[in-house]
Parts: sequence; C-alpha cells; structure tokens
Amino acid sequence: MEKELLLMLPGPVPMPERVRLAMMRQAINHRSAEFGAAYADCVRVLKTAFGTTNDLMVISGSGTAGMEAAIANVGKDKEIACIVNGKFGERMLKISQRYGKAHEIKSEWGTPIDLAALEARLEQGAQVVTLVHNETSVGIRNPAQEVGKLAKKHDALFIMDGITSIGGDTVEADKWGVDIAITGSQKCLAAPAGLAMVSVSGRAWERLTKNPPYYLDLAAYKKSAAGTPMETPYTPAVPLFLALREACLIIEEEGLAARIARHHRMSGAVQAAAKAWGLSLFPKLDAKHGYSTTVTAVEYPAGVKDDEMRATIKKMGIVIAGGQDHLKGKIFRIGSMGAVSAPEILATLAATQHALKRSGFKVQGDGVAAACEVLG
Ligand SMILES: *Cc1c(COP(=O)(O)O)cnc(C)c1O
Repeated sequence: MEKELLLMLPGPVPMPERVRLAMMRQAINHRSAEFGAAYADCVRVLKTAFGTTNDLMVISGSGTAGMEAAIANVGKDKEIACIVNGKFGERMLKISQRYGKAHEIKSEWGTPIDLAALEARLEQGAQVVTLVHNETSVGIRNPAQEVGKLAKKHDALFIMDGITSIGGDTVEADKWGVDIAITGSQKCLAAPAGLAMVSVSGRAWERLTKNPPYYLDLAAYKKSAAGTPMETPYTPAVPLFLALREACLIIEEEGLAARIARHHRMSGAVQAAAKAWGLSLFPKLDAKHGYSTTVTAVEYPAGVKDDEMRATIKKMGIVIAGGQDHLKGKIFRIGSMGAVSAPEILATLAATQHALKRSGFKVQGDGVAAACEVLG
C-alpha cells in the first residue's frame, strides 16, 4: 500500500479518523430528524468559532461558493470596496465585478491593507466592503476590526472571508461588525473539502438583493434551517455534513481557546525555524497587521528552486505549498491549520531544513532545534 502523504498545506489538511469514518455509511434522508440533528450540531459549534449569534448556514460547495453567496445576495448592483493584498482578496474583487460595481482597494501582495483608501471610497458611497481576514496566499492577518469600524461608520455592509482564520484564530464576527462571515470545511476545521459556512447579520438580511441567484439564495437557506427538523433547501452533500459534525464535535471537545492557542504555538514554531535558518517571513507588517497563525509564508533564499525543494520534501512524504501567481518560486508556505501538532510540525521542519541544505543554502542555525524550544 502506498503511504499517504502528510499534507501541510493551507488546505486541504489531514482529517482525524473520526471525521473520515463519519462518511463511511449508508445514505440517510436529508429530510429527517437525524440529518437535522447533525446540521444543528455543526451550527452550534460554528457560531462559537465565528464569534456570532447571527444566523449561520451551511452550503454544499467549497469556500468560494460562500464568497459568491455573500456578494451575490447583498452586493448586486452595489458599489463594493474590495480590499486586496493577496490572491483571495483578488478573488473577492473578481466575484464583485460579476455582480456589482467593484472598486479595488489595492496593496502589494503581503503588505498592509490601505485603510485610508478604504475610508475615501466609503466617503464616495461604497455600500459593501470585502476583506480577507487571513490572506492565505501571503500569510498575513489583516485588521478586520479596523475595517469593521470604518464600514459601520459609513453604514456599509462588511463581508469577511474568514476561510483560514475561523476555527484556528480568534474571530469575533459580531464584535467586529462583520455582516457576512464565511469559512470553508477543508481549512482550520479539518473536515473534508466541499462545504461553505456563512453567517448573516440582521442588517444584511434587511439589505438583500431583490433577485438573488437560485442555488445560492441565502434567504432559502435561512428558511429551511429554521424548520423542524433543520434542513437545507436542496439535497446537501450529506456525507460531508456528517463529517463536518464530527470535526465540530472535536473542536468543542478540544475547546476553541485551546485550539486557537495550539495554532499560535504551531505557527510560532515554524516562524522560529525560519528565523533560525536566516530566512525572512514574506509579509511586511505594520502595527495593525500580524503574521498568520494558520499558514506561514517564507521567502526563498537566492538560488533555492521551488520545484526542487518541494520535490525533496515530498520524497520524505510531506507536502508543503509554493507561492501562487507572481509569487511562484518566490515563497513557500507551511500550513499549521486543523489537527496539526508537534509531530507533524517537527517532521515538516526537519524535511524542509534538509531540503534547504540539499539545495545549496547554508542555513544559519538549526531551525528544528529552534522549533523544539517553542514546542517543548
Ligand atoms: C482556500 C481559500 C479560499 C477558497 O476556498 P475554496 O474552498 O478553494 O473554494 C478562499 N479564501 C481563502 C482565504 C482561502 O484560504
């Protein structure tokens, strides 16, 4: 049997056995008390991870379906300010261009978002703001709270992609004034790919577009979720819901605070290793931004080739991510989201250190030892 690879990616991530086994069963009716109870368990736990008491619905589709649902339901024909400092901010912009009048609030990838430009756009009448909280493509944590304040001040709706922060880092959707928050199943929740979760505020419900898309009509999801048993409007990806329920129960058992602390510790170990090797983290921060605690983006040193290094690491059974688009070959990214703990992180760092040396880079110091200091 071929050994399975250890995926240290910013999604998909390895799934606990309980999550995998939950999918291995006979079909159940999605209009049944049994399905309704599974859906209710998911929503209960997810509301804590989102930091919300708003309505929360699960859509069959990947995270991008959640992004599109948000924009299509409240952004149609609206002026939308899209904050972009990486690949997923750009995706929000592209979706917004399909539905409304999108205005890019642009920063170089991996650099701080431009709050002054956002405020100027809000003063010119932007009605909706989009932000990626944890920009996975560059490993930066954007200041969602600051964006929420500005959106509120100018009475705009705030859509936040929390796809790689929710369930792994602190998210307080209600406190931050997030009207629609989104996450996906295969990132910090450590569930299989294919589900998107969306929370919707009272303010957002009041401002729904008149002609929403059919499959992604959030009001239809709300109506079905309010029934007894709890349901989805159309046949959902039932096995994925059952797996998500296990993933959510695991989060509840670990405790959200402990889970977030673990993510901080694991990413802290990766950061310590990069520093010991003499490598730079990719994001350029100011006081309002932080390094991601779910994915760490590291700049390649001169001479180290991305495909060669990641091939060396893969030979040892571990998969890490490279850069996307123009960052291909410039950075590598190590995910620390989901169920990962010290064994996976240390193995990944040992393999990475070996691959760096093999590529001819003279590491300054022992990154694995530095990570052990953080984890031990
Ligand atoms: C992965 C990711 C997405 C896209 O999710 P899919 O499940 O691939 O559709 C969107 N935003 C962020 C920040 C992500 O990391």
